[in-house]
Amino acid sequence: MWQAEVRVDLDAIRENVARLRAGTGAELMAVVKADGYGHGMLPAARAALDAGASWLGVCTLDEALTLRRAGVTAPVLAWLLAPGLPLHEGVAAEIDLSAAGAGQLAEIVSAGQQVGRPARVHLKIDTGLARGGATPDDWPALVEAAAKAQADGVAEVVGVWSHFAYADAPGHPTVDRQLAIFHEGLELAERFGIRPRYRHLANSAATLTRPDTHFDLVRPGIACYGLSPVPGQRYGLRPAMTAQARVTQVKRVPAGTGVSYGHTYTTDRETTLAVVPLGYADGVPRHASNRGPVQLAGRARTVAGRVCMDQIVVDCGDDPVAAGDVAILFGSGVNGEPTADDWAEATDTINYEIVTRFGGVRVARVYD
Ligand code: PLP
Repeated sequence: MWQAEVRVDLDAIRENVARLRAGTGAELMAVVKADGYGHGMLPAARAALDAGASWLGVCTLDEALTLRRAGVTAPVLAWLLAPGLPLHEGVAAEIDLSAAGAGQLAEIVSAGQQVGRPARVHLKIDTGLARGGATPDDWPALVEAAAKAQADGVAEVVGVWSHFAYADAPGHPTVDRQLAIFHEGLELAERFGIRPRYRHLANSAATLTRPDTHFDLVRPGIACYGLSPVPGQRYGLRPAMTAQARVTQVKRVPAGTGVSYGHTYTTDRETTLAVVPLGYADGVPRHASNRGPVQLAGRARTVAGRVCMDQIVVDCGDDPVAAGDVAILFGSGVNGEPTADDWAEATDTINYEIVTRFGGVRVARVYD
């Protein structure tokens, strides 16, 4: 018997990936970093590959190596690399590496030389996010160095890529601006003889709303897990994660009872309190105190008082609630339960953060 669990519906991931794939003429890189946005990197990766993804995207070298060690043979791109990492392990494992500047490219090239094979690189241009990637000013130097490395046979430029700042606000002018800079970056690369097999730019939002950004490969993350990158839109996606727990105790208390640390909630009538064993150590944002929605005994309720490390309290009024009943914090919403979107709204964050938080180690993850 279980106490608290995160259920992941792998069919939902398969369905979402198939839907995204059907909406584009490009190949699809499923982004499975951060433990598959909390859904489990390996099961999510396998489900995505089953459903037509041909690439996997991760942030760290460790994540990429974990995929390889688990026997995943699909192309993998890792894109956030501090200096001094054992990049030769990545090259040896046939992991594609992102180069954000000439110095980083040199490091990747020498990792390839160490292993005795040309490193596969994706050159990253910063088109306006001001995060990773070469600025348009630094781009010529990166491209020139990459062209030389390619001519010398010590690197293969597999991709040129970038990332959007504002694709989740369809129609925002920065999307067009970034797209134009990307085109200019590609043209400059071509002048140096670099015609990458994969030009890629589109995250979930651009995959769903801007076909003109798809190029050769789209790179959705959140949409694979059934959540919309654009608040208020669903795009027919099916959320894959459910977070739920079984009530450990119920008790009848009088009006005027202060609940949980600091008594930030006080009962206004005689009522039934239910203790639900999920807390901030499990992913429940402490900011959900007196805000987070919960479905219990079929009714929509709210977290009463402060979220604790291991548990929350729910005021159930006169509902017939018993220990062992299931409290659903969020799920797909098909049975009226709250969704990760509802939790994001209640706690002033984004659905990405909600599901990623629930990928913790204490709560069992169960796969349907
Ligand atoms: N590409 C890069 C470089 C990312 O960092 C991310 C995630 O943040 C994605 C693609 C996927 O973005 P999303 O989950 O919005 O589809």
